[in-house]
Amino acid sequence: MTIKIGIPRALLFYQYFPMWKTFFEKLGLQVVVSGHTTKGILEKGARLCVDEACLPVKVAFGHVAELKEADSIFLPRLVSVSPGEYICPKFLGFPDMVKQCAQDLPPLIMTNFNQYRREGDLYAAFSETGRVLGSNPAKVYFAYREALRAHKRHTSLLQRGYMPEDAVKLAGEPPEKGSLEQEDVRSRPVVAVIGHPYNIYDGFISMNLIKRLEKAGFRVVTQDHLSEETLRHHAGRLPKKLFWTLGRNMTGGALHYLSDPGIKGLVHVASFACGPDSMTGELIERFVRRMGGKPFLNLTLDEHTGEAGVVTRLEAFTDMINLRLASGS
Ligand code: SF4
Repeated sequence: MTIKIGIPRALLFYQYFPMWKTFFEKLGLQVVVSGHTTKGILEKGARLCVDEACLPVKVAFGHVAELKEADSIFLPRLVSVSPGEYICPKFLGFPDMVKQCAQDLPPLIMTNFNQYRREGDLYAAFSETGRVLGSNPAKVYFAYREALRAHKRHTSLLQRGYMPEDAVKLAGEPPEKGSLEQEDVRSRPVVAVIGHPYNIYDGFISMNLIKRLEKAGFRVVTQDHLSEETLRHHAGRLPKKLFWTLGRNMTGGALHYLSDPGIKGLVHVASFACGPDSMTGELIERFVRRMGGKPFLNLTLDEHTGEAGVVTRLEAFTDMINLRLASGS
């Protein structure tokens, strides 16, 4: 019988799922993913998790609890995904928090992913994961190479304008199937949405922010549509280096889009109780004021945020953009 590995649709799922999926499938395992976030998933997660945790961590607990039927759950300890930078300590502690707080789960695969010193240290993490699964080292190396290829393809699809879920669907397609062709979408006014991937791409957490903007007639771009060089270049305009990778990407993305006359407005999405967001949000807001001119919406979300309030603020934001477009400014 094929072993089932569970992957929660949460946290860095939106960036790394194709890489992890490819790795496990090349080792002959079956990958199962939790469903899209629902109120039930959030409530389950909030019951299991400490009250002080941010919304995405509570949601992630709920997704893990959905994977009880898997044979193992992949919960890597993510320390660093880029040399010289860290990611939020909640990612590092998440697998241990789950281990302590959630009962009756299948075994957890909690390999350390730490690229702080060298990008190449990623192989050590995959090799350790393969060892835990009892796989042949040669097969693990092959699976690792294929996983890197899948990740590269996913990143390039994002940079061509796809949202992560669409990029995942195109993962197995030939490369030429990866370009956005819809002219009607290309000609729409563009709005940038900046935020942690697990907030902006999770329709439940973001209250379908991206879909609502698209329905209102806009094309949406995020920081993930920009190249690493562009993000680093713009983040480098700050007087001090940001050593949180996601915060650096978000600030670099916001600064790029604020300088781009083709971008008609900017939305920043933050989690309530998130330390890094309180700093990046403040930085972005200061730059919006300094660089002036673009309509800006700052949304801070938690499990108590009312949908009606978000919709009203979003409507005011899109009305402001439309008024400016109508007046030609
Ligand atoms: S960066 Fe903020 S939102 Fe993300 S896991 Fe850490 S505390 Fe939560």
